[in-house]
Amino acid sequence: MTYPPAASGVLTIDLAALVANWRYLQDRARPAEAAAVVKANGYGLGLELVAKALADAGCKMFFVAHPSEGALARKTVGPEPRIFVLNGLQVTADPKRDYADFDLAPAIGSEAELARWKAFDATAPFALHLDTGMNRLGFASLEDMLRSLSRHGGEGAELLMTHFVSAEEPDNPLNAAQIARFAAARAALPALPAGIANSSGVFLQGASCDWIRPGYALYGGNPTPGAENPMRAVATLDVVIQQIRWIEAGESCGYNSQWTAQRRTRLATLLAGYADGLPRGAGATDARAGADVLIRGKFCPLVGRVSMDLTIADVTDIPEAQVGDFARFFGPDAPLDDFAARSVTIGYNVLTSLGSRYARLVVGL
Ligand SMILES: *Cc1c(COP(=O)(O)O)cnc(C)c1O
Repeated sequence: MTYPPAASGVLTIDLAALVANWRYLQDRARPAEAAAVVKANGYGLGLELVAKALADAGCKMFFVAHPSEGALARKTVGPEPRIFVLNGLQVTADPKRDYADFDLAPAIGSEAELARWKAFDATAPFALHLDTGMNRLGFASLEDMLRSLSRHGGEGAELLMTHFVSAEEPDNPLNAAQIARFAAARAALPALPAGIANSSGVFLQGASCDWIRPGYALYGGNPTPGAENPMRAVATLDVVIQQIRWIEAGESCGYNSQWTAQRRTRLATLLAGYADGLPRGAGATDARAGADVLIRGKFCPLVGRVSMDLTIADVTDIPEAQVGDFARFFGPDAPLDDFAARSVTIGYNVLTSLGSRYARLVVGL
């Protein structure tokens, strides 16, 4: 692989895989239509990059978390697609400057938000966000939502939505309870298109509506943990080996000597650390195993504390590993979800933490 000078690692983003993932979810969800969640800088991969590719592929509805992301999405996808802001009408934001000027529709989740949006413009578009169990954001009950609509008016409502608490656990009884609560809301507002499913929700029985709202699975994350990942990997992270050294059994490596060599050990130092978004739990300690990286086609463990700018791998069993080689943290042959789980985090967190010091290589389209 070639890489730009001074880059310590390469983040490869496969837009063909992204679009294939969106089409796969779209096919699976039919007759529902597939929107795309591009919040948090397109799950760390670049909001403009992913939103443009998905809009070109035919995606007509986007979700962001924050109005500033919505403004960027609007500039990227043009005037046609509907863009919803999941955080709602933020108390810190101005309805005109932060929403209407970019034709952004807030996911309204309280009477106060509805009153404020209606006072600004009685016909401006919005989504109705009902909380069916998360107890986080959204109208606290159907009654609360209907009362608010009767007081302030429902013109401009374009979507009824709720969000799963544990969609990735198909046997969790909360799923059926949320589906039932949402069905009651749909029955009360039958004219409104509705959407409940995030990535994992697309794979749940009985969760089909008019729209699906996947994020993570678009970016290659496994929406069905415990079963084979039906999605294609979109992000590949390769980090270069800067130095290799031998240490003796009983010596340790990294801050606070958290990992001790049990044998004569060959260590490779990689040019990325937690400032690049690597989880601090990725390295093995004497108390627990950590994550693996792939070097010359073989997996080997990360050892010792991940530092700000550097990480250490044990390459004793890969004698062919050399300075200048790449260590792959995740990619098509090194599942993101495995790397995250073994780093005591989730793939969502790994992607949305990806730092700005990698060279970003866009392939596939
Ligand atoms: C982030 C988010 C999604 C997307 O969830 P994934 O699990 O990434 O598919 C959908 N809906 C809401 C309300 C969200 O906050």
